[in-house]
Amino acid sequence: MEIADEPAETVRMIYSLYLSGSQLRDIAKELNARRRKTPAQMQAELAHRNGKKMPQGNNRPKHRYAGLLRCADCGAVFIPQNRWWNGKCRVEYVCKTYLENGRAHCTSRRIHEEALDAVVAGEIAALRDRLRGEEAELIQQKKMRASGKLLLDARISALQRKVESLDSDIEALLMERIQDKANSARYDALAAKLSAEQTSAKRELSGINSGDAELQSRLKNLRKQIAELNTALEHTPVEETKLRALIACIHVKQDQKGGCALIEWKTAD
Ligand SMILES: [Zn+2]
Repeated sequence: MEIADEPAETVRMIYSLYLSGSQLRDIAKELNARRRKTPAQMQAELAHRNGKKMPQGNNRPKHRYAGLLRCADCGAVFIPQNRWWNGKCRVEYVCKTYLENGRAHCTSRRIHEEALDAVVAGEIAALRDRLRGEEAELIQQKKMRASGKLLLDARISALQRKVESLDSDIEALLMERIQDKANSARYDALAAKLSAEQTSAKRELSGINSGDAELQSRLKNLRKQIAELNTALEHTPVEETKLRALIACIHVKQDQKGGCALIEWKTAD
């Protein structure tokens, strides 16, 4: 096993250096030069493998994607792991089922954090471009409304005049009804008819007005989302707070044939 052998070999090396009279500082240098982990690094890795939290300088979670990943094959979470490779620490995420039960139980394996970073940045850019397309469509709609604006304005004032004249008609009708009680049922029927006409005119008016308002508010909302995505794309890789603000879950499938990462966004659109 690659993991078990290396520390034993390193410990042997430390002992032989120590016995030959080397200072601890020099031993550490030597380990670095040979790209060996120092005992402190080994300890940190071991503690992590056992699931303990290492003390940290700040309160931010240690792994950018911790809790965000889900296996697209078996539905389990992906567990972050620090793996040492040529003396450098690399973060990988492994399907919990695969990690605990082996390949017979899930086809997903492990995905490197760098690979996730690349997918996420690409998907954020793609979403931004899609929203830009929607924005362009709304702007086009707005222009079309504006070009028909004279007609709409004429319709609006006609409807307003209608509503006002129906107001006075209904009022006059009610005055006559008081003086002609014998025919009150006829007046009531007429008043109801005029009132229904007025309601329909008012409804059309509010439809025209809210069309503009709705278009404007959709456009405003889209622009806010686009700006948010652009801000997230300013940093490479995307900052963790931005990741967590935008993404609800990433469905990961990564096996020997390749992989995919499907992003579930927080913004419902
Ligand atoms: Zn799995």
